[in-house]
Amino acid sequence: MNIRIGNGYDIHRLVSDRPLILGGVNIPHSLGLLGHSDADVLTHAIMDAMLGALSLGDIGHYFPPSDPQWAGADSLLLLAQVHNLIHQRGWQIGNIDSVVVAERPKLKPHIATMRSKIANILQLDPTQVGIKATTNEKLGPVGQEEGICAYAVVLLIAAK
Ligand code: MG
Repeated sequence: MNIRIGNGYDIHRLVSDRPLILGGVNIPHSLGLLGHSDADVLTHAIMDAMLGALSLGDIGHYFPPSDPQWAGADSLLLLAQVHNLIHQRGWQIGNIDSVVVAERPKLKPHIATMRSKIANILQLDPTQVGIKATTNEKLGPVGQEEGICAYAVVLLIAAK
């Protein structure tokens, strides 16, 4: 088998005293995401999809919230470590597709920067990194702005 697919999901709670970081971009907003690391929910979903494609478990296994070394961690640096892991096993990324679900703020102006930041870390072309944004139509906890969630799918191709 020379291709593998993985999917990832993550959600973090919105609070008033944290920055909002999505896809490595610090987005001006009155609320931010709560978490042990920088709580970059999009990057976390992508990492879980990469790990899932190779049945390597989830990010909680590699970067446990109980470990103080990951406190406030830049999730793009964790993404680079997950990339190394799949690279060492002989795989490369074909493409990523993802969705961020957030009621506010408007994410469209930041999507291009998120794509280039993630592509840069993963040594991909931005055309290989799909990021979409949608609202939850005010429905449920995400719609009520209690949190932001993200979904990602990653296709891996055998490097050899
Ligand atoms: Mg997370």
